[in-house]
Amino acid sequence: MLPIIYLVIAIFWCVVWGVATNAIIQNKGYSENWFWWGFFFSLIAVLVALSKPQVQNSEEDAVRKANEKREQAMLSDNGWKCDKCGKMNPSYTGTCGCGLTRAQSEARKRQREEEKKKVAEVKKESDAIEKIKQYKELLDSGILSQEEFDKKKAELLHL
Ligand SMILES: [Zn+2]
Repeated sequence: MLPIIYLVIAIFWCVVWGVATNAIIQNKGYSENWFWWGFFFSLIAVLVALSKPQVQNSEEDAVRKANEKREQAMLSDNGWKCDKCGKMNPSYTGTCGCGLTRAQSEARKRQREEEKKKVAEVKKESDAIEKIKQYKELLDSGILSQEEFDKKKAELLHL
């Protein structure tokens, strides 16, 4: 009876190593099955698995790269990217699957860029005003002369 118990324990132990080795390998992003390496080589297999470099989402990366390449190819072929749903449409498609036409898509994109520019301008202006206030304090405390202050102010306001 005893030898069978030892055998069961030994197999159980090997299975544990196998599962652990495979878990490490799967965690690192590999799609290989390392169960039997762990089963037969236990600690050595675990150490080898641990020393393997992490796979950087290779599949996701490949899909993303393929999409980018496809987008680039379509854009250079006079295709267009829908501004609403992000779908790439070939040049002969005038209306995206979501219902947006190419002209509407381009108008949306233009409008967004203009808004972005406007926001940036407002930000720049308020930054300039903030700086002028700081220079005014320097003027009031006598650190800057009136002439220096006027010069700085003109610079900031592009006068
Ligand atoms: Zn769309």
